[in-house]
Amino acid sequence: MEIAEHMRFENLPEQAQGCRRCALGETRRSLVFGEGNLQAQIMLVGEAPGEKEDVSGRPFVGPAGRMLNKILEETGLRREDIYITGVVKCRPPGNRLPKKDEVEACVPFLHEQIRSLQPKIIVCLGSLAAKTLIDPKLKISEARGQWVVKDGAKFMPTYHPASVFHDREKLDAIREDFLKVREALE
Ligand code: SF4
Repeated sequence: MEIAEHMRFENLPEQAQGCRRCALGETRRSLVFGEGNLQAQIMLVGEAPGEKEDVSGRPFVGPAGRMLNKILEETGLRREDIYITGVVKCRPPGNRLPKKDEVEACVPFLHEQIRSLQPKIIVCLGSLAAKTLIDPKLKISEARGQWVVKDGAKFMPTYHPASVFHDREKLDAIREDFLKVREALE
C-alpha cells in the first residue's frame, strides 16, 4: 500500500497510530514508530518491537536496547545523533518473527521514513532488516560488515544486538561493523 503523498513525516507517527493494515494491529499495546534525531546521518533499522518496546512505545529499550547502547558507546557513536526504527512497528505475539504479509503491510512506513530523513548510512540490525532493505536473498552471516550502496544511501548489514545473548562472538562482529560506520562518518 502506498503512503499518500500528502502525509508529511512529522504527522506520520500520529497517523500511523490507528493502523490496522495487518493482524499485529489487533494485539499490540503501542505502535513503535521510531525515534531519534530527525537530522541524523545514521538510521538504525531493527526487526519489530519486543515486550518492553510494546509497553513503552519506544524502540530498543529492552535488553537488546541496552546491548545496542553499550555497542554505540563503545564505538564512539551517540544514540541522540541517530534515528532508530524497525521494519515492523507493532509487536508480534510471543516475539515471533514478523510474517511476510506483515512486513509487506508495514514496510511503506519504513520507506517513507528513509525517503523523508534521507540518512547517509542505514545500519540493518539483523537478517530481516537486511533482507527487506538490501536483498531478499542476502545471508547475514556472509553480508555483514560489507557496505552496500543503493538508492543514494550506504547500507551496513550487521547482526541484531539480541543475537549476542545466544552467541557472544557476535558482539565483536557488531562492534567491528559499527566502527566502520563511525569511520565512514569521519
Ligand atoms: S505492524 Fe505496521 S502494518 Fe501492521 S498494524 Fe502495525 S503499523 Fe500497521
